[in-house]
Amino acid sequence: MATAQLTTINPSNTINHYKAYKPRPFKREERDKVTILYGGLTWKHERLMQGALHNLKYNAEPLPNITREDLDAGKELIDVGACCPTIFTTGSLVNLLKTKVAAQGKEQVNDKYVFLTAGACGPCRFGQYHESYAMALDGLGLRDFRLFLLAQDELDQRSADGGGLEINMPLSLGLIWGILCADQLMDLEYMTRPYEVNPGQTDRVLKESVEYLYDVFRQRPDRGKKFGTLAWHLMSNYFTRALREVHNKWQTIEVDRLRVKAKVKITGEFWLQTHEGEGNYNIKRWLEQEDSEVVPPPVAVWLHYLLHPTIRKLEHRHSTSKHPRLQGLALHALERIYRGTYNRFRRALGNLPYELPDQEELRRLAEPFYHFELRGGEGHMLIGKALHTYHHKKAHMTCELSPYSCMPNTMSVGSMANVLGKYPELLYAPIEVKGDSEVHALSRCQMILTEAKRRASAEFEGALKKTGLTTEAIRKYEERHPELRRATYRIPHRDCAGVAANYVLHLAEDRRLAKA
Ligand code: SF4
Repeated sequence: MATAQLTTINPSNTINHYKAYKPRPFKREERDKVTILYGGLTWKHERLMQGALHNLKYNAEPLPNITREDLDAGKELIDVGACCPTIFTTGSLVNLLKTKVAAQGKEQVNDKYVFLTAGACGPCRFGQYHESYAMALDGLGLRDFRLFLLAQDELDQRSADGGGLEINMPLSLGLIWGILCADQLMDLEYMTRPYEVNPGQTDRVLKESVEYLYDVFRQRPDRGKKFGTLAWHLMSNYFTRALREVHNKWQTIEVDRLRVKAKVKITGEFWLQTHEGEGNYNIKRWLEQEDSEVVPPPVAVWLHYLLHPTIRKLEHRHSTSKHPRLQGLALHALERIYRGTYNRFRRALGNLPYELPDQEELRRLAEPFYHFELRGGEGHMLIGKALHTYHHKKAHMTCELSPYSCMPNTMSVGSMANVLGKYPELLYAPIEVKGDSEVHALSRCQMILTEAKRRASAEFEGALKKTGLTTEAIRKYEERHPELRRATYRIPHRDCAGVAANYVLHLAEDRRLAKA
């Protein structure tokens, strides 16, 4: 079968033209015997997506989490200039396939597994991931192994050749709803763990919640293949009921919000910022060990961003649509439904997870520094998110994870120099990730983190001074109101970035404490 090859001339003067990789069909009747491999997000996202896939009777298995060995395996088999997410993800597939081949043999692996990955076009390597995978398959001698692309911007695509994989509404909605729920669990996790009183309790409740939601996705009722399923996903309280149950589980966690922590917003290239593990030096866990609270990047922001280029084209009359006005209205309605669904899930979790940022605002904030039509990677969003975090005091600092050899991120890091010229108070740590220079990257982050911690402490002391409260008075008040120490007690955002300072300002508004 055909695989990716460069045009070459062999000694007998026969020209071998380049042929793009084309997978063998994955037939409908093979579905019971074939396992779909996938990966690239966090274990929480992947487990809920597995629930959605199992619900549709697919065998599905996420790739193991990335390790340092995956970097070496990827470097061996793909081109040297590849960006580090491409190397890591290709290496991860390679190492898994090697293990499977060792246990089952090549023929079995070719027949019993397929790999499903997101695809896109555009100026960066994201549009070329599948070429790297194909190159690696060649290197492994697994030419017949099948990999399929899931376009990010279509809910209903044609089935993969042979009908074994149907990329239709039930599948797409199941996967997207799984991602939205996992994003919100991730927010709960990162806003709770740094303050937990009993070490390890957050991780235990998280695991329990993910397993519970996995079952919810696995048992999702069948409502047809088109509009019936769409209407059901949008209107049913099936998922919100489940999320309320998760909220109840979370209520059991005791927290101490008087711990002063620097809050660090993570941004960066999509894969690198989402990943939790050796692919980004485990930076999120490391930041928690360094006495900070991480604000993680939800995948939902990326999906929201994908809607906007088409809206912009219509606004600027660059679209070839026959009915631009109608299409514009439909896209705005779709956006409202998307944000509405996300907020419905948030409400079921007591409004604890963070709101999605307004894409219009991100564009407006970034506009003087980075044009929104420069596509590739996260585009203008990196500038927009850093400024959004700064202006709205969402965190004390922004840590931007930039892959080695990534063109879009290099541009945005360059533009940030201009932003910092205008906003010198903005704390920004751009970290280049190559996979093998951990000490250098973390020590750079630590330099900015030191100042973020100093600001968090000053903010807390300022809040105590402003309100006249003392930590002793607050402790006594907490004894009489144990609900304040539950992870589900929501602290409203006042004029500070840090949780401890906002907690003090919030309590000062409580007249009962003033009398205590
Ligand atoms: S955004 Fe950068 S790191 Fe990500 S796929 Fe594109 S080039 Fe690679």
